[in-house]
Amino acid sequence: MIDYISALPGADALPGFPRRLCILGSTGSIGESALAVAADHPEEISVLALAGGRNVERLAAQAARFRPRFLAVLEEAGAWRLRSMLPSGYAPEILTGPEAYVTLATLEDADVVLSAIVGAAGLPPTLAAAEAGKVVALANKESLVLAGHLIRRACRKSGAVILPVDSEHNALFQSLAGHDGQDVDHLILTASGGPFRDWPAADIPKATAAQALKHPNWSMGAKISIDSATLMNKGLEVIEACQLYGLPQERVTVLVHPQSIVHSLAAYCDGSLLAQMGQPDMRIAIAYCLCYPRRLPLKLEPLDLASLGTLSFSHPRTKDFPCLDLARRAAGAGPGHCVTLNAANEVAVELFLKDRIGFADIARAVSWALDRHPGLDDPDFMTILEVDRATRSDVATYLTGTS
Ligand code: NAD
Ligand code: MG
Repeated sequence: MIDYISALPGADALPGFPRRLCILGSTGSIGESALAVAADHPEEISVLALAGGRNVERLAAQAARFRPRFLAVLEEAGAWRLRSMLPSGYAPEILTGPEAYVTLATLEDADVVLSAIVGAAGLPPTLAAAEAGKVVALANKESLVLAGHLIRRACRKSGAVILPVDSEHNALFQSLAGHDGQDVDHLILTASGGPFRDWPAADIPKATAAQALKHPNWSMGAKISIDSATLMNKGLEVIEACQLYGLPQERVTVLVHPQSIVHSLAAYCDGSLLAQMGQPDMRIAIAYCLCYPRRLPLKLEPLDLASLGTLSFSHPRTKDFPCLDLARRAAGAGPGHCVTLNAANEVAVELFLKDRIGFADIARAVSWALDRHPGLDDPDFMTILEVDRATRSDVATYLTGTS
């Protein structure tokens, strides 16, 4: 039985057009793709607020182009630099610090909030948007991994709507629409398999960050590219699917599909598999969420199945890529373990990106952290932040000897 995380109101109860958009993480890969959609569709999307992190130059260029009323950056010094880079006659309100993202996520005038910050930093503004009853286009999968149970409760209370941007979950959302959730047997997430999909097992631990960053099909930020290489991304996505659709992890399976054309499938009790297919381009899922339930014409190469010829599927190599099973273990153990899984992974990925640890150390650190976790059934927001903080410190010490 599918029990979706939020209510899904009909078109008449959703905001009209143009929808006023707030993008959290606008300078990232998802943020830039969203702005590309907005640039081509001014009648459907108007940009109200843009929040970047530390890339002030890119944010300034975006702000000059879209002239939003609100901007946010992580640091005070960045705000000064940002203001000096803006065109004369344009004076938006500029906010700073982690609380700025919460303020923008709950702006009275925001019709849709695109949550596209990377990592656990995305949780506070995402939860705040859900509590404020917003339509949330959710790319930041980590917030569901950390606190899906809190986001679900917030949506039920406030009437907020969650629309999944992650391509697999967006595909499931489309494949489940209009069907009875009782008829669903299980969900199938597809995975490209990442850049090391066909490597001999003995070579995988020697993989470098530079090699891991070269994803075969998708162009993405650094953290999710490493997660794709370890298959932790698929593990986080199993948890994300469980949180979105209210299913146990056993009912979310994974198939490796190197072409990344079938973005995921819903398996029904009569044996039917319904899938969504498309080019591996995040603009499809982003546009669908921003204008839901309308579809926008996008300037994409048409998908030519005849020239593709073959679509192939296989089981993931879980022994050689242990992160997928580690995520399943956390999902089975409960929400507290998922916080530990995510925090350990974020720390390890950061160290791997700096070439300070090896590829196999990522799974080793996550497994070590899960072994030590005390177990918490229903952690509240403050407990989640505390487990996140403590795990980061412990894992950094474990991997480097310093925290
Ligand atoms: P990215 O690294 O390209 O961009 C991240 C954005 O977050 C940037 O704007 C950065 O400035 C901002 N940011 C980073 N740390 C921050 C902090 N502490 N506080 C505030 N802002 C901060 O990442 P991305 O690839 O765009 O991914 C964003 C999210 O979307 C991730 O959760 C990822 O898992 C998810 N996602 C991405 C893709 C993709 O194709 N890139 C696909 C599916 C889901
Ligand atoms: Mg995905």
